[in-house]
Amino acid sequence: MTSPQESPDALRDKVAVVTGAAGGLGRAISRRLHAAGARLALVDRDEAGLADAAAEFGDDAATFAVDLTDDARTEALPGEVRDRLGTLDILVNNAGVRQIASILDLTPDEWRHTLDVDLTAPFVLSRAAIPGMIEQGRGKIVNIASITGELAFADRSAYCVAKAGIIMLTKTITLEFAARGIWCNAIGPGVVETPMTSEYFRSGPMRESIERNAPMKRWAQPEEIAGPVAFLCGPESDYVNGTTLFVDGGWNSA
Ligand code: NAD
Repeated sequence: MTSPQESPDALRDKVAVVTGAAGGLGRAISRRLHAAGARLALVDRDEAGLADAAAEFGDDAATFAVDLTDDARTEALPGEVRDRLGTLDILVNNAGVRQIASILDLTPDEWRHTLDVDLTAPFVLSRAAIPGMIEQGRGKIVNIASITGELAFADRSAYCVAKAGIIMLTKTITLEFAARGIWCNAIGPGVVETPMTSEYFRSGPMRESIERNAPMKRWAQPEEIAGPVAFLCGPESDYVNGTTLFVDGGWNSA
């Protein structure tokens, strides 16, 4: 059996949905899955960013401009992907938002929005995709969690709660559906250089804190997360299910 790393064909004939495809990590994941042979359903609410991302993949990608907080629209998405691309084999729940604010300053609406995008949308999309995957005998879901799902950080309450939730959602999907050909795993990145974290690299104290607290003394580039995502999407991870693979340069072990 070959892995995506070993063969450019490991994901040939597979269709992968990537949410947040216009963002930093989504773009790198899309590129990595495409390099392994997958065709792509690129999902984001940022239409201009989506068009820009899709231009890279030509006929191998279709775009879906969706606000993932719209439950009805999100639930319809797997059917639309199958209509336009013929199948849906891989779902990468990557879209995310993050609020940095004390619990005293975070409004209930802001709290709800973070949980809606980071936790409820993966739930809605997964439950809509799973029946078709079961019908075709096989499907892989990869959720993008975070080290904040296991390590608490001040001023990130909603984000930490959502990411802890997605680690548990990953396990419960596995328990319910592993015997019916579904894999559900998560990736827990540390700090990755993307638009979401760009302020870290501008401001001295945050940058210094990462360099002090991260065991490898550096943050990650999106490509360093995309490779492990591709591993969990491909055949080489067929006995990995329900797990969260932390790709954090050892931070979670500190
Ligand atoms: P990013 O801001 O570059 O990308 C996030 C994407 O999600 C954007 O394109 C945005 O338009 C999209 N999105 C947000 N809300 C949406 C909605 N309601 N509907 C549809 N699309 C929506 O951020 P990123 O760093 O690439 O983050 C990707 C994932 O990685 C997120 O789940 C994030 O929590 C996770 N993560 C990032 C880091 C990091 O350091 N960058 C670390 C750990 C985990």
